[in-house]
Amino acid sequence: MGLEEKASSGFLLTTIEGFAGYVRKASVWPVTFGLACCAIEMMATGGPRYDISRFGMEVFRASPRQADLMIVAGRVSQKMAPVVRQVYDQMPEPKWVLSMGVCASSGGMFNNYAVVQGVDHIVPVDIYLPGCPPRPEMLLNAILALHDQIQKSPLGVDRRQAAKAAEAAALEATPTSRMTGLLQ
Ligand code: SF4
Repeated sequence: MGLEEKASSGFLLTTIEGFAGYVRKASVWPVTFGLACCAIEMMATGGPRYDISRFGMEVFRASPRQADLMIVAGRVSQKMAPVVRQVYDQMPEPKWVLSMGVCASSGGMFNNYAVVQGVDHIVPVDIYLPGCPPRPEMLLNAILALHDQIQKSPLGVDRRQAAKAAEAAALEATPTSRMTGLLQ
């Protein structure tokens, strides 16, 4: 890891925030969860050829309560949507969602009433991965990008609350709401 070269004097200085980000990104446990063909690529990522355990992530948890990453691998049918949300709700904070493949991200070629047109209608998504299906290398690349996000996340900030506040501010700035404000 080159740690010995970086800390030749035997100690390192960092911030609590930097340390927490480092520890969090190096201990992400995905929930065992697959919806369609993309899940096969996700399983391959866990195998010896791609070896997701290099990133400390081989422990795909069977219980959402012990997981902090949901990889939505495959199209989300309307029937599965409440289940996806329930699994997400059962995961403890802080948690992250990776939308894997075009179907999970936008419905893909399934532009019909049976498939949710993007999993972000159900859960907040932290990173989108394009492709049909994305190869294991692409999934690993998206996971590394997510690690960067996690490392840089400020401590003490509720990302969901911040997103809601931004959404409310954007809504506030729409012409209709401005007009409503004028009429009041
Ligand atoms: S993106 Fe392609 S591989 Fe993934 S679930 Fe959709 S059809 Fe299957």
